[in-house]
Amino acid sequence: MTIEVAGERPDVDVVVIGGGVNGAGVARDCTQRGLRVAVFERNDIAFGASGNNSGMIHGGPRYLTYDPHVTYSSCLDSGHIQRIAPHLLFRIPFLMPVHTEGRTPKLSLTLLDAFFDLYDKYQPLKHGKPHARLTAEELQQLEPGLAGRTVGGVSFDEWGIDGVRLCVGNLVDAAEAGAEVRVHTTVTEILRREDGSVNGVRYRDLLTGQSGQRTAKVVVNATGAWAPLTAGLGGLVADQARIRPGKGIHVFFDRRLTNYAIAVRAIDGRQVFLEPWQNMSVIGTTDTDYYGDLDDVVATTAEVRYLIQAVARVFPAILEARAIGTWAGVRPTIYDWGPDPDGLSREHAVVDHEPHGAAGLYSMIGGKLASYRMFAEAMTDAICHRLGVQKASRTHLTALPGGEELVDPIALAEDAQIEPIAGARLEYRHGARSLRIVERLARDRREAAVVCPCEPVLEAEVRYVIAHEWAQTVEDVSRRTRLGVGACGGMRCAARCGAIVAQMTGRSPLDGQRMALDFLEGAARRRMAAVGPLQARQEALSLASIRAELGSPRSIERPSGNLGPTGLGPSVGPAPSDDERRANKERPVADKERGAAE
Ligand SMILES: Cc1cc2nc3c(=O)[nH]c(=O)nc-3n(C[C@H](O)[C@H](O)[C@H](O)COP(=O)(O)OP(=O)(O)OC[C@H]3O[C@@H](n4cnc5c(N)ncnc54)[C@H](O)[C@@H]3O)c2cc1C
Repeated sequence: MTIEVAGERPDVDVVVIGGGVNGAGVARDCTQRGLRVAVFERNDIAFGASGNNSGMIHGGPRYLTYDPHVTYSSCLDSGHIQRIAPHLLFRIPFLMPVHTEGRTPKLSLTLLDAFFDLYDKYQPLKHGKPHARLTAEELQQLEPGLAGRTVGGVSFDEWGIDGVRLCVGNLVDAAEAGAEVRVHTTVTEILRREDGSVNGVRYRDLLTGQSGQRTAKVVVNATGAWAPLTAGLGGLVADQARIRPGKGIHVFFDRRLTNYAIAVRAIDGRQVFLEPWQNMSVIGTTDTDYYGDLDDVVATTAEVRYLIQAVARVFPAILEARAIGTWAGVRPTIYDWGPDPDGLSREHAVVDHEPHGAAGLYSMIGGKLASYRMFAEAMTDAICHRLGVQKASRTHLTALPGGEELVDPIALAEDAQIEPIAGARLEYRHGARSLRIVERLARDRREAAVVCPCEPVLEAEVRYVIAHEWAQTVEDVSRRTRLGVGACGGMRCAARCGAIVAQMTGRSPLDGQRMALDFLEGAARRRMAAVGPLQARQEALSLASIRAELGSPRSIERPSGNLGPTGLGPSVGPAPSDDERRANKERPVADKERGAAE
């Protein structure tokens, strides 16, 4: 059945609300199947769970006990993601020690060994290695920092990924196939016809304050934990797109402390881990029901202590290591009353709101990063069915931008005359597209300047993500490049980055300073629970004095994700101030010096 409203050609076929991995995945699949798409993201790409998870494209061995289908589909889709974005995956071998304190440690080890025999059957799907049973001595050799007496343990194989880069890649691909992508743009209303069917959305750009609307045949609510609030924007009740939001936090350390990830039990028996991830170490994660503001999720000291306590019992050196930050996200888990959050299913579901009177509106509920592509395919199948499009998904066959071919990072660094580490990090994030960034250096050698020494990030990459990946603030650049995430917390790079962003987006140098300060304040706030009260107080004081000197408000007014005074949906934040209106009047203006080249 083809839906065409008499006398009305909608602006696009599909509006996608949400720039997380599910929204990005649907946008890509829809454009590949010939549909016209517009994507709206109220914060930034991967601002939600997709940029704040454990960074693993894994099968989740623990789901084998109660949700084997999740393990199967995650492993299968991990294999697909590996094919389409080989540059983004990195191996994380895990160790799981079995301590002698339990009542039957040898039996526990035998059972664990048998359990991983079963997991091994799924490993080929994601090109993982089979597990190994290890003696206590072997464990100790592999990770000399392990403490406590063990009877041995097992190793198993997983893959790490940068979730932000995965989202950006999907959206870049969609945009190159014609999709309109708007970030910092919140959907404020889902439009309905008299018969209840949806016909588009109203939106507001939070940077410029400009509002508008896009008519569409189908609207996809891909807003993760925000899904019930978003459904409210179309007059539905929260129950019709219900989730059970679960908060999870991670603490990260300034370097890689181990060669292997280590899975350990927390005080309540939950499994948590210490993992080497990119160029740092991460411990995670918690899983607790969440009732707070979705646009402002931060780790608490209690959550940090819980994780450190668990890891220190097995890897005491964590107590001496330098924690430099935290991140926190909210899982959009399928609603269920009763199980503890850890025990909730990680399945996904496409909810068609036609039975709720809103034909053409769909919500994507639940899921995992590891199976996002499959979820997006199921969502796009439903859209195509509605619109009478008969094209199958090819997203598992076609490379994401940068994934077309592998680039040798050492050769890349030599050709570009940059440090090997800078070349390797660039190649990791952009794959074959790193060559485009390197081309910029040939045009203008000044762009070889290192903006963020911790990561490191070159000026060329900062400019590239502003020009080609919708970065509009320092925080956006950081999300895409990891600028300012290292030990200095952005103190060495935020100001320079702010100046570049301001210049390229036609804003004033003062705006650049404000953006840098916004970033530093946000990072300090996220760091607070990890660094302790003394450092947190000092940071707060110095940042407050800079803020007072600049005498300016934050550069973006964030909307609140809370239910708002009506209890029906999110408020959309205050209108921009006169200052902001003035500052944004000229936007978008190309970079005066180099804009033409972008
Ligand atoms: C702590 C934690 C650890 C996890 N670890 C893993 C893991 O290791 N492996 C794995 O496979 N999965 C993991 N997950 C699960 C995975 O991250 C999520 O299932 C997935 O990222 C959800 O993606 P999403 O696109 O549905 O939601 P999100 O990524 O949350 O995106 C929703 C987006 O919608 C936007 N939005 C909201 N309202 C509006 C509006 N009105 N207008 C426009 N935009 C709007 C938000 O700003 C947000 O960016 C983890 C999750 C968490 C929280």
